[in-house]
Amino acid sequence: MSQKFGKVFLVGSGPGDPELLTLKARRLIDSAEVIIYDQLPGKAILESMPESAEKIDAGKYAGKHTLSQGSINEVLIEKAKAGKRVVRLKGGDPYIFGRGGEEAEVLVREGIEFEIVPGITSAIAAPAYAGIPVTHREDTSMVTFITGHEAPTKEESGLDWETLAKFQGTIVILMGVKMLRRNCKALLKFGKDPKTPVALIERGTRPDQRVTVGSLENIADLAEERAVKAPAITVIGKVVRLHEILGEQLFDTEF
Ligand code: SAH
Repeated sequence: MSQKFGKVFLVGSGPGDPELLTLKARRLIDSAEVIIYDQLPGKAILESMPESAEKIDAGKYAGKHTLSQGSINEVLIEKAKAGKRVVRLKGGDPYIFGRGGEEAEVLVREGIEFEIVPGITSAIAAPAYAGIPVTHREDTSMVTFITGHEAPTKEESGLDWETLAKFQGTIVILMGVKMLRRNCKALLKFGKDPKTPVALIERGTRPDQRVTVGSLENIADLAEERAVKAPAITVIGKVVRLHEILGEQLFDTEF
């Protein structure tokens, strides 16, 4: 029976520069019958979706849900069971804070064939375009990725701020704008050096990328002054100093 089903491709779009899309992602997008997307892949990539595909906006942008996760799962199942070749397009990498794992679990449960297509995560690419390698031999050989904004249904913080404050490596925070002040305070409370450099990279790898650099003690004020908005990556750690040396990417792209 299952051979009558279509197939779902969970595809990472990368952080927004269309040339950071993988060849596999490009091919699958171009041959999809249905594309279910959010806004996170960014304008340039979304505008390149083929006319021929049915396009469904899951609209999960900075908490503004037009489709709940449950409804997204239902659409995925419905379209796949109708025999369609479905691309579920997600910003960055589907398995890095993208709920890709949850969608994959649902597909497995429903007996629907799926494939994962990793993408370049914004957690690495946005800092890179801002001149910040997330590891650097002189500075650190560790990096951790955390969410700054946990699922509202979670009763207790799944993040151990005390351990994070002691962590000597680079901390990269995704979804970290709204809770920036609270999270910086948590790190300071547990003894992290207030002078620890912090960078915020908004719309990383896109033509309007903007970088704000400060330290743990003043970055929340700077973010407010400059009206920093999602999507943005927060980088905390010594490596942020490299922004001054390596500079911002000069965009050698055609968009
Ligand atoms: N799966 C995605 C992350 C999804 S969570 C990835 O691997 O990149 C959404 C968060 O990703 C945003 O709140 C922001 O922190 C980050 N993000 C995604 N694209 C970004 C970009 N181009 N620039 C800066 N941050 C970005």
